[in-house]
Amino acid sequence: MINYKDLGLVNTRDMFAKAVAGGYAIPAFNFNNMEQLQAIIMAAAETKSPVILQVSKGARNYANQTLLRYMAEGAVQYAKELGWENPQIVLHLDHGDSFELCKSCVDMGFSSVMIDASSLPYEENIALTRKVVEYAHKYDVTVEAELGVLAGVEDEVAAEESHYTRPEEVIDFATRTGCDSLAISIGTSHGAYKFKPEQCTRDPKTGLLVPPPLAFDVLHEIEKKLPGFPIVLHGSSSVPQEYVKMINEHGGKLPDAVGIPEEQLREASKSAVCKINIDSDSRLAMTAAVRKVFADKPGEFDPRKYLGPARDEMKKLYMHKIVNVLGSNGKA
Ligand SMILES: [Zn+2]
Repeated sequence: MINYKDLGLVNTRDMFAKAVAGGYAIPAFNFNNMEQLQAIIMAAAETKSPVILQVSKGARNYANQTLLRYMAEGAVQYAKELGWENPQIVLHLDHGDSFELCKSCVDMGFSSVMIDASSLPYEENIALTRKVVEYAHKYDVTVEAELGVLAGVEDEVAAEESHYTRPEEVIDFATRTGCDSLAISIGTSHGAYKFKPEQCTRDPKTGLLVPPPLAFDVLHEIEKKLPGFPIVLHGSSSVPQEYVKMINEHGGKLPDAVGIPEEQLREASKSAVCKINIDSDSRLAMTAAVRKVFADKPGEFDPRKYLGPARDEMKKLYMHKIVNVLGSNGKA
């Protein structure tokens, strides 16, 4: 049993309370490898932003959970080396799908876990979430739950049909589960193909797809039911068209990839939304940078020469999100 406090990590409780009160959101960035983690920590340290390091089930399988945990521990030390005196870093399990998975994360030093039982019937979602909350709270680990179903594909999480969170359920759900934060569905979606072309309109000038707007009315209704309760948005990459273009111009093929416009995420950050998950954008930044090096310098075979530029590009992206979209800079 390793407690996250011994690793220098924090849970989300104070962080979220401050974010809700202050009208900003905490970035939750997924990581699978060293360069991503370095870029996240550099960006957070430079902007003094609290940050959530997210590990999905897929990342645990890819990179090995023990190694990931030590990397997160190392990240706290690295942040201090970069001059961030009191790093506010959360290590969070993204989309835990069983009690056993959540328990094993709590036991090995995660400071926060998500139990995503949103695909189960309502009462089963409550029962499983409640079980995880009871275990996690014994160790002061915070728990994110989900109500409503997001569309899209993210690692092993996939749903064909989405449905919005029903505001009439949130009080009952939050009260009976005791969860610390709630992921809701208001039209965000996992992956780089968040919307089908037929769900969108097309900008006649640029030819780019314009996605349907987020359901702010549903968000505001939820806020009214649960004043001050931390709300989470998954699937909130904006799929920057500069990266899609860079990828497509250097041998890639991502037709009609489209995300959530950043103005809408900025708007959501000012509400009870206090955690915004961003994964695809970092994948796109990394892929764009690597493709460009490979296209421009076909003789290059030193991984540092293409993963280095990828890291630079990701850091730029993370800083942009922190400062211009979420507003969490200077809050840690
Ligand atoms: Zn998600």
